[in-house]
Amino acid sequence: MKQCVICKATIEKGTLCEAHAIAKTHLEEKYQEWKRAFGKLTKKEYYQKLVDDSNIPIGDWAREVAEYFLKEENKKR
Ligand SMILES: [Zn+2]
Repeated sequence: MKQCVICKATIEKGTLCEAHAIAKTHLEEKYQEWKRAFGKLTKKEYYQKLVDDSNIPIGDWAREVAEYFLKEENKKR
């Protein structure tokens, strides 16, 4: 058994529970929309915006996913 990297829920496989996996899919879709709207936008900038601006209506699940991936992006360099 594994754990969701975000909420530690027990999962069968992968790294995210179902709710967070769905939220991530929505985030990816929205990222493509935003890229079209803003022009140049890195994933990191995108996650940062979502985390910083609590008025963006993406929902708690998606915001947790954004926070997690922002941390991952910050680890990279
Ligand atoms: Zn989860």
